[in-house]
Amino acid sequence: MRMTLRVLLLLLVPALVGAQRGRPSTLGLVRDGRIVEAMRDLSPAALRRIDSTLVAFGTRHTMSDTVSPTRGVGAARRWIHAELTAASAACGGCLRVEYDTGRAVVGRSPDRPTVALWNVVAWLPGRDTSRVVVMGAHYDSCICSTNAMDAVSDAPGADDDGSGTAAVMELARVMARRFPGGFDATIAFVLYTGEEQGLLGSTQFAERLAREGRRVVAAFTDDIIGNVVADDGRRNDRSVRVFAIDSLAVGGGELARYVWAVGARYQPRFEVLPVLRLDRLGRGGDHRPFVERGIPGLRFSERLENYKRQHLPTDSLADVDFAYVADVARLNLASVAALAAAPDRPAQTAYARDRASGGQAFQIRWSAVPGASRYELLVRRTTDPTYTRIVDTGTETSYLLDEQLDDVWVGVRAVGADGHRSLTTVVGAPGGARLAPAAATRPR
Ligand SMILES: [Zn+2]
Repeated sequence: MRMTLRVLLLLLVPALVGAQRGRPSTLGLVRDGRIVEAMRDLSPAALRRIDSTLVAFGTRHTMSDTVSPTRGVGAARRWIHAELTAASAACGGCLRVEYDTGRAVVGRSPDRPTVALWNVVAWLPGRDTSRVVVMGAHYDSCICSTNAMDAVSDAPGADDDGSGTAAVMELARVMARRFPGGFDATIAFVLYTGEEQGLLGSTQFAERLAREGRRVVAAFTDDIIGNVVADDGRRNDRSVRVFAIDSLAVGGGELARYVWAVGARYQPRFEVLPVLRLDRLGRGGDHRPFVERGIPGLRFSERLENYKRQHLPTDSLADVDFAYVADVARLNLASVAALAAAPDRPAQTAYARDRASGGQAFQIRWSAVPGASRYELLVRRTTDPTYTRIVDTGTETSYLLDEQLDDVWVGVRAVGADGHRSLTTVVGAPGGARLAPAAATRPR
């Protein structure tokens, strides 16, 4: 008996230390059986089929041939549109497939040509069509490392970003089949063009959503998610990086913590490595135009890049690991579905020092969220990578919290009727939206 207790203690101690060091926390997220089943539908074979077709178009350079039925960016976008249309037909027309078109000047080219931009979008409408979760990838390719404006030579882009394009197209098909009625929020599966010329397609789409007055819950991009062997032979196919800038007001870090928790909840053997910066050094991705517009954005990228193949004719299909792409796509699916199934997060917060407690407790208030069945407060030290305490506050939109708010970050989130949690809004975040202060000072 005594030995058993000692063994138990020995087992417990590393777990506690691990928690302090910032091991992944599930943050109290639910594990939804429908999401688990849908994740199983993502197969390496289907992803390989899509990526091999993309590579077979020779080049998908934004300024390449648009007339040929077999080569160039025009043939590629028509095929993507046809595939998504077929996926919609298979779910009784549940997806709305369209081209999102426009024109932009290529500022990076010395002669500054104007290019036509054709994003391909498949919408899975939710109960609320004004609230959107964006899941994107760019289908254009280039051999920018030799000549950024070469629109004729082969640019296979199997990893950059055929891997992400395959994942997003397959996510659209699988999620449409499993959830033809959609979620609470609308999902936009977007295949961008013009990424390699300066995020032109994603900028166009982010501007359009703003113009239409849609509220973007989160903007995800899958960009280079299929390489598992680095230049030096190092291999890693068990983890993925998620890049998001940790702005408390915008909520990028909150999104990274959410995806980290989704990974721990749904895919514990596949490590999510949150990197709290916008992107890799000197690099960019299609989440950026959203972040610049105050929207939480996040990029999924392989753990190990191979710099000898990026933006080169050597970015070939043989070097994409589709079992790995499928793992990333499963994390995408769980993240997108969990967020889309949840209510919105509280838009505004307020706080007031509680006098009765000698100023050691705080009255926290937040704006009500339609569809929320209750709310939770999450607490972490400012140096903790993620939240360590969850407080159920019931149905009220205020709570007397026994924490010294000066010393911690507190996030508030909404819980839906089926248990799905929204992103957190950080209370008192610099630059964050506030409730009127007068209303916040009422002691309880
Ligand atoms: Zn890319």
